[in-house]
Amino acid sequence: MNVMAGASLGTEFPLLLPTFGSQSTSFHGFLTIGRYDYEVHLEVPHFPDVKGMTLSTDAWLASVIKRCQEQLSQEEKDCHTVQEYLRKFQQICAAATENEDSVSLPQDAMFTTLLSHIETIGWSKVSQVSTDFSMIYLETKDESERLHSLRAKIQPGYPIVEPVVEADLPVDIDITWNTSEGLSCIMSAWEEKLSTLQELWDVLDELDETALVLDPPNPTRKHTSRRILLSNHVSIQLTVSIAHPRSLPQCHLLGSSHLTAPLNARLTDNYNEWDPERSIVNNLEIVLGVDVVKAKSKESTVDDGGSDWSAECAVCYCLHLEGALPDLTCDHCSQAFHVQCLYEWLCSVPNSRQSMNFIFGECPYCTQLISCKVPT
Ligand SMILES: [Zn+2]
Ligand SMILES: [Zn+2]
Repeated sequence: MNVMAGASLGTEFPLLLPTFGSQSTSFHGFLTIGRYDYEVHLEVPHFPDVKGMTLSTDAWLASVIKRCQEQLSQEEKDCHTVQEYLRKFQQICAAATENEDSVSLPQDAMFTTLLSHIETIGWSKVSQVSTDFSMIYLETKDESERLHSLRAKIQPGYPIVEPVVEADLPVDIDITWNTSEGLSCIMSAWEEKLSTLQELWDVLDELDETALVLDPPNPTRKHTSRRILLSNHVSIQLTVSIAHPRSLPQCHLLGSSHLTAPLNARLTDNYNEWDPERSIVNNLEIVLGVDVVKAKSKESTVDDGGSDWSAECAVCYCLHLEGALPDLTCDHCSQAFHVQCLYEWLCSVPNSRQSMNFIFGECPYCTQLISCKVPT
């Protein structure tokens, strides 16, 4: 093998790796042009010199190269190393694709139709396209400037065959497919659906910005539930109604029963105090009679280490453990534990005993009796 051992393009092109077994030094992988990565293959007979290098890539990028041929040939003459050339190559191609309307693509009937449909909705709505055009990522902003994305899987036989659509929404989009309009049908149905969900996201955004959300860890637009911290060791799972987002959400209090019982009682007594005109956090505070832990206090605990609330497991000091939250609380001291952590703790101390599928022992925090189910 006459390949240069250890030939590398360095850290500047981490996705381009040397391939072996070819006559000259070659690289295969991805090259970033503007906002996308393109699959490329480089043959570099005089590595690290760029002279005589061949670059093969997909039809899309090839059409860009064709348009910039003159400029690129000049750079090939001027540059000494492959790295130097690739840097110029990225700049030239990125500049040429900035206004993507002018990019010409393979002249195939399906592509032509697809492209004309993309042009109708506008390239500005396309965030990403897979190299073979089988996957098109669309994006749009709603009335409140929230960015939404949608993935359309283009099936062979487009536009007779309808694309498979996946959007980050809590509901399905009702698309009436029409072969002559194609992607526009998706776009209009999607935008119509987005406009009906504005109030829902206003409410959920307020929760995310104001309250301390424990779960889901990274909520997206399809999540209508939030588990937020109310006070030390007590949280509430809220499921906001899609149809009536400002009404009282479905509430489920979590925590030690002696702490949740009075809150549940207040919820039952005061639920009619819920006023759709008020903000959700404000409503919760009025109905439950507590101050909701605010999002910004999350940082302050990180800084000072001491605070009047905690949500972490008292064994591992983490919030999330393999997708689980510390849902088991001690009835005496109210400390919260992951079931797994408490179980392992109880197994490791001598005076615990197991009966059926429960284990009993001392709370690691207050030494009072605590039990947990043996995890399956
Ligand atoms: Zn834990
Ligand atoms: Zn305890």
